[in-house]
Amino acid sequence: MKLIVVSNREPYRVEPRRGKASFEKTVGGLVSALEPILRKNGGIWICWGRRGQKTPLEVWINEKFLMKQVPLTSADVSEYYYGFSNETLWPLSHMFLNRTHFDDSYWLGYRRVNRKFARAVKEVYQGGAKIVVNDYHLALVPKLLKDEGLNDPIYFFWHIPFPPYFMLRFLPQRREILEGMLGADVIGFHTQYYVNNFLECVREILGAFPDGNTVYWNGRRIEVRAVPVGIDVERWERLRSDPKVVRYAKNLRKKLGVDYVGIGVDRLDYTKGLEEKFKGLERFFEKYSSFRGKVSFIQIAAPTRTKLEDYMDIKRKTDEIVGRVEGRFGEPGWVPIYYYYKNYGDERLASLYMMSNFALITPVIDGLNLVAKEYVASRTDEEGVLILSEFAGVSVQLREGALIVNPFDEDQVAEAIYMALKMKKKEKRERMRSLKSVVTEKDVHWWIEEFLKDVSA
Ligand code: UDP
Repeated sequence: MKLIVVSNREPYRVEPRRGKASFEKTVGGLVSALEPILRKNGGIWICWGRRGQKTPLEVWINEKFLMKQVPLTSADVSEYYYGFSNETLWPLSHMFLNRTHFDDSYWLGYRRVNRKFARAVKEVYQGGAKIVVNDYHLALVPKLLKDEGLNDPIYFFWHIPFPPYFMLRFLPQRREILEGMLGADVIGFHTQYYVNNFLECVREILGAFPDGNTVYWNGRRIEVRAVPVGIDVERWERLRSDPKVVRYAKNLRKKLGVDYVGIGVDRLDYTKGLEEKFKGLERFFEKYSSFRGKVSFIQIAAPTRTKLEDYMDIKRKTDEIVGRVEGRFGEPGWVPIYYYYKNYGDERLASLYMMSNFALITPVIDGLNLVAKEYVASRTDEEGVLILSEFAGVSVQLREGALIVNPFDEDQVAEAIYMALKMKKKEKRERMRSLKSVVTEKDVHWWIEEFLKDVSA
């Protein structure tokens, strides 16, 4: 069946070049998952666009696949995107009440833009498609479409943690958000834990009575599914054996000149626990002084939402603690933490994943965490240890093979690093095999099949 995908972020960045539009695929889990299917089977991807942009708002990617951009004004972007999405729903869903901003204009902007997206779907809709609406930016779209009488099944995926009732109840528009989502026929989350939170909210806020993972609402039946997003494993395996990637990894490893290398890759977001991670590393170097000069940690901190005060705040704090660790333990000729405030492409990431002895992924809360899966997929050598926060959604899937830590417990993080460095080859292999089997079995193709399964009769 044809797909109509709706997401805030565009699958392609379009650049005008010599009078013609050229387009480049954007990075991200959703795009890697769905773009190949639309390219092959045809479909429409509806996403945001900026008013005044010089490129056309409708681009045929091939003869069957159309990308249609919804023009947004700067007020739309600031109220809907930065405002309600990223200063209200994002912090609230990640349990940061003190970073949650409530503002009427944000909500009005959010409603206005959700209507624009719904209208854009309506304009291209011809029936006979599955409509796949994505994420917390567009929670009102399913109901708006259902109210328009669209008969095709609507799938909605919420890609971040879904908050429990005791958090969602602070939101003045909690009812509208839930009702908006319940316009879908299928609602997906990464874990059963988020499903449970959603069902609890539906019960407490709307007074509906879910039966197992099914909600009955307004005479309709809605299935709620726990289906963690998977990655394109083959692609990461291919990258990992690309001669360019291998060469870069080898050279870098040589240049670093240390016995052990750790790696971290995160957007610089307050949910990613970078402060906690660096405190854990600081404790490690403090406690295990014999490893000073022998271990270097590389952290990629990709800039994100840089206009928001909370993100400037976390950057200041992270810069400060890296500087502190450097000043305290660093020596001429040895850098304890290499810290890059930059965005890297997947070739460079694959090199970093494959050349490291351990990955330290310690979000204080995270919907899933794809980096953990990419790290595993890149380790075809069955080496490398994954140290993972218990508060990343992906820990539900990877708890067998990873060393699971509470990022707020600096000693535990330090201990896990020590264990990773001391781990015998055999144990590393066993753990990596276990991780690999989950990541491979529950890959992106599995996710699409499970999430987009037909609604049961
Ligand atoms: N990523 C990237 N370049 C970077 C940092 C991250 O391409 O410099 C990618 C990374 O490979 C992963 C995604 O961004 O696919 C991050 O996804 P994740 O689920 O880990 O976290 P999110 O950023 O979605 O919260």
